[in-house]
Amino acid sequence: MSAKQHLHTFLQHAGQADFDERTGAAPVALPSMRTSTVRFKTLDHLDQAATDRSAGGRSVVYGRAGMDTHRALEDVFCALEAGERAFLVPSGMAAITLAVMSVVSQGDHVLAADCAYGPVRTLDQNVLQRMGIQTTYCEPTVEAFSAALTPATKVLYVESPGSLLMQMLDMPALAAFAKAHDLILIADNTWGSGLSYQPLSLGADVSVVAGTKYVGGHSDLMLGAVIAKDKAIADKIDACNYALGFSVSADDAWLALRGVRTMPLRMRETAANALKVCEALSQWPEVKTIYHPAWKEDAYHELWQRDATGSNGMLSFSLTIDSARARRFVNALTLFGIGFSWGGFESLVQLVDKNSVASHSYWGHDNAVLLRLHIGLENVDDLIADLTRAFSLSLQK
Ligand SMILES: *Cc1c(COP(=O)(O)O)cnc(C)c1O
Repeated sequence: MSAKQHLHTFLQHAGQADFDERTGAAPVALPSMRTSTVRFKTLDHLDQAATDRSAGGRSVVYGRAGMDTHRALEDVFCALEAGERAFLVPSGMAAITLAVMSVVSQGDHVLAADCAYGPVRTLDQNVLQRMGIQTTYCEPTVEAFSAALTPATKVLYVESPGSLLMQMLDMPALAAFAKAHDLILIADNTWGSGLSYQPLSLGADVSVVAGTKYVGGHSDLMLGAVIAKDKAIADKIDACNYALGFSVSADDAWLALRGVRTMPLRMRETAANALKVCEALSQWPEVKTIYHPAWKEDAYHELWQRDATGSNGMLSFSLTIDSARARRFVNALTLFGIGFSWGGFESLVQLVDKNSVASHSYWGHDNAVLLRLHIGLENVDDLIADLTRAFSLSLQK
């Protein structure tokens, strides 16, 4: 990507197929290059590819790494995240697993933000602990992490904004702390997906993105990416990725490539819609707190203004109603699908299980009901009308 070119422009031109030498023609959209293996014209070509690979290059000698379609999507992730190498994996969760497993060894200690995506704890409980790797969850501040630091600490694992409550972290301060203690800073950047937030530019070593969300953008694929800027770390991820055998279908890489071209438009629209929903919700007497860093009254709004370049359609809000009414409210919604995930074209609602936020220091064992919305690309007045109608209906038992 040329230095002067905007990311939005790059996304429209990424991965263009080469012109056919005979006809001088090329398709506008790169085909999905499906293959399980690669053939070489001569042994010399194979040797050259193998040499490049062992030096940490992107040359492909076997199908698992994928060819042009995968490569184009890797280039997109590098551009989005300001990284040097990107590795594709079959889900966002696989990206978290790959990032962590690439840099920890038996006896190591991991410091993790207590606001991280819930299934990180599943990885810890079901895999890391069996490998003799301990994890401590902390309030995501330098003070709390410093207090929990041990001589065995190797990794600082964070997510900004955090899952469910969208709490912005002071990434530059955490990066300085990680550097001072020789820790590898891994950041889950699914929220920003490179457009609204860039952990690597703010000092993180590794960024993890669930392409399932805004990159794919159409709720029709699962995909993850791990992006690194430093060659030594990228080489470790490459080796671990190869050993674990992660592989992504060319068709899924193709769908992600197709989806990401409109990500700037989608994210801008959904972010604008979400702000209007915040404005409407702020008028309801039963709404206690709105969690959305772009919202002017969010506790982390200033940090968001300083470090982020945009927002998205994710917002949570707490309500002083009982859980029976909250259930009636959710059931009465017609434009919001009841379901997990986010980042697609459609609006979604989740009645957040209190256990999922009980361990987030920011939640503070509040008794209120917590709802999470993903605001989609519907007309926002229709969405607000649906919320208002369902909320008044929920009064009736
Ligand atoms: C959804 C999500 C993931 C996991 O992505 P999958 O593709 O569903 O495995 C990871 N991190 C965050 C913050 C997410 O929201």
